[in-house]
Amino acid sequence: MEELKTLSDEWICTHLGDEYEKYSGAVVPPIFQNSLHVFPSVEAKEAFDSNREEGRYFYGRVSNPTVEIVERKIAALERGDAAKCFGSGMAAISSALLSCLSAGDHVIAVKNVYGPTNTFLTEYMSRFNIDTTFVEGDKVSEFEDAIRKNTTVIYLESPTSFNMMLQDLKEVACLAKKHNITTIIDNTWCTPIFQKPLELGIDIVVHTLSKYFGGHSDIIGGVVVSRKDIIDRIASRERELLGGILHPFEAWLVLRGIRTLPVRLRQHQENAMKVAQFLENHPKVSRVYYPGLPSHPQYELGKKQMKGYSGLMSFEVKTTSDKLKQFVNSLKMFKIGVSWGGFESLVIIPCASWSDDQCKEYGLSKTMVRIAVGLEDADELINDLSDGLAIV
Ligand SMILES: *Cc1c(COP(=O)(O)O)cnc(C)c1O
Repeated sequence: MEELKTLSDEWICTHLGDEYEKYSGAVVPPIFQNSLHVFPSVEAKEAFDSNREEGRYFYGRVSNPTVEIVERKIAALERGDAAKCFGSGMAAISSALLSCLSAGDHVIAVKNVYGPTNTFLTEYMSRFNIDTTFVEGDKVSEFEDAIRKNTTVIYLESPTSFNMMLQDLKEVACLAKKHNITTIIDNTWCTPIFQKPLELGIDIVVHTLSKYFGGHSDIIGGVVVSRKDIIDRIASRERELLGGILHPFEAWLVLRGIRTLPVRLRQHQENAMKVAQFLENHPKVSRVYYPGLPSHPQYELGKKQMKGYSGLMSFEVKTTSDKLKQFVNSLKMFKIGVSWGGFESLVIIPCASWSDDQCKEYGLSKTMVRIAVGLEDADELINDLSDGLAIV
């Protein structure tokens, strides 16, 4: 593992796991689309059972060679010992949480986490008498004040969903270590190209692969990265027993996505920065939520712990809910849809149906729009937004 730390992200993305000699010189490793691996003798099977050494496979719910290439690449990108892939981001997130929690434990999570993560903590884990305290996350003292005797997990997402607030990863990790609390972060927005939380002391990184890793809006998947002891435990418990491994064909498509991840992210960043600057200077836009803008309240912290900014942002429009819908309906380049991280630009009005109380609790507005800036021409995207904003 040590030597992997000296490899460039670009090399890991393009070439780690090629192993031409193993695959008849194929420039792209093949898909292992098989559910089991057979043994040459009873003795070989018995030897495997007594020591499941690396590189040997026996059943597809437990491991698969194609899935393992994805795991090696992402572990190397995140500078972790190991990684395990799952059938969705939520399978990875729920497995990571379950691996750290027992009945009666307490979790501290940032308030604006990904919606289904919030639901999992509040409506599912509560069945096991696991309580979650939500904090804004911009002050380390908030985490400290929320710690109880039975706190075992601090769950982060930086930037958070919708309002793009950051947490000081180094400081939170340091606090958690003092109290023997495991830190987990959803690093989907940044990807390891722009942020490497394990290097800052965070224990476990989770990602959906359905966004930038896949990058082409054609797969659903997830991954957990951490130290070897933690990953070994997740592999033999949550992944093997809950059974949510990523499928080989999806893994093969993720490999294709990863080969171009740094290039795509550079373009997402360039486009998003232009769009964010346009929006910030538009008279009908009251606020832009994007950590790449110097006006972001945590811009300095972002520069310290992130190497770049991806393409997802939110902004508030000075208008009525009805006119906001007209604006979104009028857009031609931005398709109306959830998800993000693909080649295409997308738009939603996340809080349109929220109650006033809900908006207040999360500090979000009904006239907030979220856009995923894709790989189209930035000027075309800006012209589209400009035409749309002219009608609000
Ligand atoms: C989409 C998303 C997830 C969930 O991923 P799935 O693959 O849809 O389960 C988790 N976290 C963030 C930040 C996301 O955007």
